[in-house]
Order: sequence, then structure tokens, then C-alpha cells
Amino acid sequence: AKREGRGLVRIASRALQERVQTDLELANDLRWALERDELLLHYQPQFDAHTGRLLGAEALLRWNHPKLGYVSPARFIPIAEEAGLIPPIGSWVIRRAVQQTVQWQAQGLRAVPVAVNLSAIQFRDPMLIAEVHKVITSAGMDPSMLELELTESIAMEDSEFTIGTIEALKGIGVRLSIDDFGTGYSSLKYLQRFSVDKLKIDQSFVRGLGMRGQDDAIVSTIIGLADNLGLKTIAEGVETPEELARLRHMGCAEIQGYLTGRPVDSATFAAVLRAGC
Ligand code: C2E
Ligand code: CA
Ligand code: CA
Ligand code: CA
Repeated sequence: AKREGRGLVRIASRALQERVQTDLELANDLRWALERDELLLHYQPQFDAHTGRLLGAEALLRWNHPKLGYVSPARFIPIAEEAGLIPPIGSWVIRRAVQQTVQWQAQGLRAVPVAVNLSAIQFRDPMLIAEVHKVITSAGMDPSMLELELTESIAMEDSEFTIGTIEALKGIGVRLSIDDFGTGYSSLKYLQRFSVDKLKIDQSFVRGLGMRGQDDAIVSTIIGLADNLGLKTIAEGVETPEELARLRHMGCAEIQGYLTGRPVDSATFAAVLRAGC
């Protein structure tokens, strides 16, 4: 019976091992990804929901793995977090997005703010504020051209700390938004004390617009809440004209999604900026 038991354990652990090994292998490869130039940013345009004017871009990290091709950030960001690789990768993302924005401006392209996603590890890092300040200053960028996205769950985790960090970042002049809004547990008491600029309505609610009545209710409630708090709203993951029509009708200010533009490499985004001149 003992042997049999061990055999089962062995089979189970082999299945587990495959998964663990791949994560470990990815973590090892990721260690070299920066110096091997395998990381890059794609940019997804954000538009005024009513006029269609280009308002900004979200920078989204891409890893072009030499053997696997593009690996999704949804897969490798958690691995980077576990492997202690977020400090260098997260810093690179901020630096790259800022440099790229300044470069576009220098080329005479239309200037639009760039939004960067922050990992919890970056947000908790006491050096973040000084780092953001330094990157912006040395690039000579107007700080309001950088927006930092913080997920709702990161923001709510330690709300007193969040209030202080947001204040400090606002002090530098950057913009802040709360990402994936509606998926975590928000405390209205704290939301009111977070001096952020924008709520990003999670794409899971946008997906259900016109199909699940509760999603229409949630989205219009978020928009109403944002209006009352003096915050802007952007809907993420807008894929169909019907979704856009409903969002407009509900008074959503901004939209982002495959309908109006997929994330694209920097050269392609430069063409979007040129068209938006
Ligand atoms: P997110 O911040 O919520 O980003 C939005 C995701 O939705 C992106 O996936 C984007 O490509 C995708 N998307 C945009 N429009 C549509 C649409 O109309 N339909 C659908 N189905 N998807 C759409 P992506 O680029 O794969 O990124 C996944 C997640 O990885 C991001 O979710 C974010 O949490 C994380 N991530 C990406 N870049 C970074 C980064 O530089 N730093 C950190 N910490 N996280 C990042
Ligand atoms: Ca985001
Ligand atoms: Ca999001
Ligand atoms: Ca997300």
C-alpha cells in the first residue's frame, strides 16, 4: 500500500513538476530578457467616447521569447513578481514609456499622455516616488504626460499607505488611475480619499453590456460614482459598436479596446499619432 501511495504521489508531483519547471525556466529566461533586448512596449490608443479624438495610450509590456515567441504578460508578470524581477523590469517599463513619449514629441508628433501599469511590488517600493520623479526630470517630460495605473486590489490592500503614496505621486504631477475597477472590493470611504484622476471600468463588465442587465447596472453605477467624485471614466475592452453606443449613452467619457485600436508597436503607434495631428 505504501508503494502504491508513493506511485500516486510520484505521478501527481510529475504533473506538478512540469508546470513548476516551466515557470522556473521562464523565470530564468526572464532574468536575461532585459539585456537581451527581448522586452518591448506596445501601445493601445484611448479615445474620447463622443468625439473620437485620440486622448492617450496605455503601454503594455511584451516579451518576445527566443523560442516561445510572444509570452503573455498575464503569464510572465506574476513569474517576474515571484522571481524578484519586478524592480528592474518595472523600472525599465517606466523609463521606456517616458523616453518614447518624449521622443514622439521631439519628432513633432502630437503629444498624448502615456499610461503605465504598476505592479504591487513597485507600488509598495519606498523608492518609487523618487524614481518616477527622476525619470521624468531627466527626460524633460511634463509630468502630467505620465499616468500610473494601479489596480483596485492593490489600492485597497493597505488604504492608508495608498492615500499617502497617491498624494506623493500627485505631488510630482503625474496622473493616476484605478485599473480593473469593479473587480475588487472597493471601500467608498477610501475611494473618496484617493486623489486619483480616473477609474478604468474593467472589461468583464463591458463584455456583458446589452446582454447581462446587471453589467449595464454596474457600468452605469460606476460612471455615476465617478461623476459624483469628480473622476473621469474609461471603459476597457470595448469590442463592438453596440458596447460603444451603450457606453456613450451612459456618459462614459473615454474608451479603449479592439474596436478602436489594438495594442501596436511603437512605429505603428507613431502612425496613429501622425494621423491624429
Ligand atoms: P490590463 O492592464 O487590464 O490591460 C488590458 C489588457 O486587455 C491588455 O492585455 C490588452 O491588450 C487587452 N485588451 C485591450 N483591448 C481589448 C479588447 O477589446 N478585448 C480584449 N479581449 N482584450 C483587450 P495584455 O497586454 O495581454 O496585458 C494583460 C495584463 O498584463 C494587463 O492587464 C496588466 O495587468 C498586465 N501588464 C501588461 N503590461 C504590464 C506592465 O508593463 N507592468 C505590469 N505590472 N503589468 C502589465
Ligand atoms: Ca492597465
Ligand atoms: Ca485593466
Ligand atoms: Ca487586468
